[in-house]
Amino acid sequence: MSFSQLLGQERTVKRLRSLVETGRIPPAMIFHGPAGVGKFLAAFEFAKAVNCSHSEHLEKKPAPPPPDENDLFAAAAPAPAPEPEAAPARTHSDMSDSCGMCLSCLQAASGAHPDIRVVDSAFQAALLGEEESANLKIDTMREVTRWAQQKPMLSPWKVFIVRDAEALMPAAQNALLKTLEEPPPGTLVILTVSRKTALLPTILSRCCMIDFAPLPAKVLKEVLEAGGAEAGEAAALASLGNGSLEGAAEAASFLKRVSALRPGDPARAFKFAAGLPRDSHKAREEVKTLLDLLLARARSAWSAAEGPAKPRLTALLRRTLDLRRMADRNVSYLLLLETALLESERAGIKIEDLIRPA
Ligand SMILES: [Zn+2]
Repeated sequence: MSFSQLLGQERTVKRLRSLVETGRIPPAMIFHGPAGVGKFLAAFEFAKAVNCSHSEHLEKKPAPPPPDENDLFAAAAPAPAPEPEAAPARTHSDMSDSCGMCLSCLQAASGAHPDIRVVDSAFQAALLGEEESANLKIDTMREVTRWAQQKPMLSPWKVFIVRDAEALMPAAQNALLKTLEEPPPGTLVILTVSRKTALLPTILSRCCMIDFAPLPAKVLKEVLEAGGAEAGEAAALASLGNGSLEGAAEAASFLKRVSALRPGDPARAFKFAAGLPRDSHKAREEVKTLLDLLLARARSAWSAAEGPAKPRLTALLRRTLDLRRMADRNVSYLLLLETALLESERAGIKIEDLIRPA
């Protein structure tokens, strides 16, 4: 992995590369943008790049053991062949990116770099000996503050990547603030966040903001295909994914649930509603996706329709548009979903039709 493999974030990567190349590293940074667009990967690559020594790490071979003086046959044994001259270490000329072959890069790739720490809920659970929690706590950030005071062990920079920093409770943010206000030399803190309003203004004002855009659908499709999705599926998920891998993963689980419903099952609208995510925000988003698909399907059916089907589809279109508007307000999404599905079926559009290409 290196910056060159981060797809769809060319402008941001260019900015990060120039910071690495000029050595002007801000000690506190926020990587901000939608979930699932590569913020964490970029933070990790940035940490690798600032710590890279750009020179190949060669394992030193242990010296051969000295001959055993008590061994009577030692003298008769042929002299060992001289060691072939070791090839000189290769160097890497792109100073804006990591080399992938120095000791620092190799340790980072194996997840065992002593100066790069990822602070997230799994790290916190191991640190505090507790179950994983959705919040990052003050005790965790106090520990980070303590480490930040120590010198890096191997590299120029000691990097802390606080992943999904919206999980930081206000007290934990205040604990981190001291490190951001007076960063110890060689300490770099990167917060990745998709909702920057979750961070205190005092944190925001002390960090250099690096923005990440949603991924273009073409890039999202490429990434999904590289992950094993077939072309048609990748295209469908990329168009539903709102520019994020996380969005595409949610769309995949949504399509899977739609396609599992048995055609002709009179209870399928209710079964679908029962399978919505428990998180009400996600469930509402999923209902909106379903309404968007229904609108697209109703529009194409309407333009192809003739005779008595036309007014029926006109009424469905109007009604679905109303429901879609209500979905943005505080109306029960379950009620919206059931109404939409029942009315669309009455107009001749079945739920299983929604995921077929129009
Ligand atoms: Zn390197």
